[in-house]
Amino acid sequence: MNTPLIDPFARAITYLRVSVTDRCDFRCVYCMSENMTFLPKKELLTLEELDRMCSAFIDLGVEKLRITGGEPLVRRGIMTFFNDMSRHLERGALKELTLTTNGSQLERYADDLAAAGVRRINISLDTLDEGKFADVTRWGRLPQVLRGIDAAQKAGLRVKINTVALKGFNEEELPKLTEWCAERGMDLTWIEVMPMGDIGNENRIGQYWSLKDVRAQYESAYTVSDLAERTGGPARYVRLEETGQKIGFITPLSHNFCESCNRVRLTCTGELFMCLGQEDKADLRPALREHPDSDLPLHDAIRNAILHKPKGHDFDYSRQRLDGQMSRHMSHTGG
Ligand code: SAM
Ligand code: SF4
Repeated sequence: MNTPLIDPFARAITYLRVSVTDRCDFRCVYCMSENMTFLPKKELLTLEELDRMCSAFIDLGVEKLRITGGEPLVRRGIMTFFNDMSRHLERGALKELTLTTNGSQLERYADDLAAAGVRRINISLDTLDEGKFADVTRWGRLPQVLRGIDAAQKAGLRVKINTVALKGFNEEELPKLTEWCAERGMDLTWIEVMPMGDIGNENRIGQYWSLKDVRAQYESAYTVSDLAERTGGPARYVRLEETGQKIGFITPLSHNFCESCNRVRLTCTGELFMCLGQEDKADLRPALREHPDSDLPLHDAIRNAILHKPKGHDFDYSRQRLDGQMSRHMSHTGG
């Protein structure tokens, strides 16, 4: 039995988020510039290498795997990877296999995902207005995503909607989005916009809508009860007594959640980021590629990387400056 991954601040690392591609079929304004340059395909880990990487983390005690990107479902052959990962669910080593998606490919893949053992998924959706959806995603089409959500629910997947809170964009839609989710039995999580990557001309501070205001909107319209539930991440949850719905708030900028952090992030090139808000990373690719017949060097490289997990992040929007601004895109490390 391998000893579990414990970082220098006594936090057990049990959750791995994996970006399987930096590419996407959308160009959300807060995430990418319109003319993004993507990594050359040869730099990406192959699906077999991704499998080896994830399996090594599971051997070291990771119990939850979230597949993200870019858009994970545009990676060619990705269902093979999900099917192969399901062996870890079956043997009980992995407790949850899940993904975060923009929903565009779900009509095609929802049944296969359910068959691979996926039970819950997060779907990102910032507006229910077709024109605004096209504006914010630049390349996305709302009806296609709505069909994807239908397909996911029909396949028995539990869906949580993730919505980026954008000032002057979806503030007015809070009641409509909330009711729509309630009618469909879906929880809803709001995400504060984060300073990630160069996204062209968009003004991020203009887009920032504090989740304190979002919460205040809920409190004026519903009976809001705090939930004790913690996921080891930056999310806090409340229940709306009128609808029974869980509403989440992901506030990486205005809250300190780092003391309970249980996660690390693997990029599609095999770099491990120990913290979403720090540049510090470890390249796991040499340990993987130089030792095709043994995972021990990879285990050592992972353990060594975890020893460098920082205490916390440096994001700060105070004084209207983007302190802690990150040069990499969210699509690189996964959201
Ligand atoms: N393409 C998939 C999707 O959109 O769900 C998965 C990857 S995307 C990078 C993961 C999440 O990050 C999405 O919910 C997206 O809205 C969020 N996101 C992207 N850029 C962000 C930013 N700058 N600030 C906050 N959330 C962001
Ligand atoms: Fe693509 Fe997701 Fe980024 Fe939008 S948020 S551009 S869907 S990776």
